[in-house]
Amino acid sequence: MERRTLLQTLAALVALPGLTARSRAETAAPADFPPLTKTDSEWKALLEPARFQILFEEATERPFSSPLNNEKHAGTFVCAACYLPLFESAHKFDSGTGWPSFTQPISGHMDTKRDFKLVLPRTEYHCARCTGHQGHVFNDGPPPRGERWCNNGLALIFVPQGEAPPALRS
Ligand SMILES: [Zn+2]
Repeated sequence: MERRTLLQTLAALVALPGLTARSRAETAAPADFPPLTKTDSEWKALLEPARFQILFEEATERPFSSPLNNEKHAGTFVCAACYLPLFESAHKFDSGTGWPSFTQPISGHMDTKRDFKLVLPRTEYHCARCTGHQGHVFNDGPPPRGERWCNNGLALIFVPQGEAPPALRS
């Protein structure tokens, strides 16, 4: 009976609606790119120090420090480490927080994990291809999804619409 109760509890948890279920859908294994794995020293050789600290040491840039915070042109935001497209400008919004904010990432291009750095659990998210840290997702965003993907500007590169994005880093 105990086992059955546990299974019922697990089934109930899985059935819970909201961010958990959506994140699971977004983190489904994408078929269009294999993971890119590099050592810290390899990334350090490729990235300026401030970008490396955010992407691979989970640092957070100062609010209102990124020019991408005010970027309002149409285009795509790609991972500053591996160049995988992560956000479309259509999903960017002004959250007033001082960090570039989005209502959703490009499906399948972001993975999430729980983060206890500030005691209260937060949901950290990172590039699904290179695991580079991007930011945290919160449940106080605009409808219909109610999500706020709060991103470090230095972890992204903006590619204006009409311009060819950089080839994926290998
Ligand atoms: Zn990446």
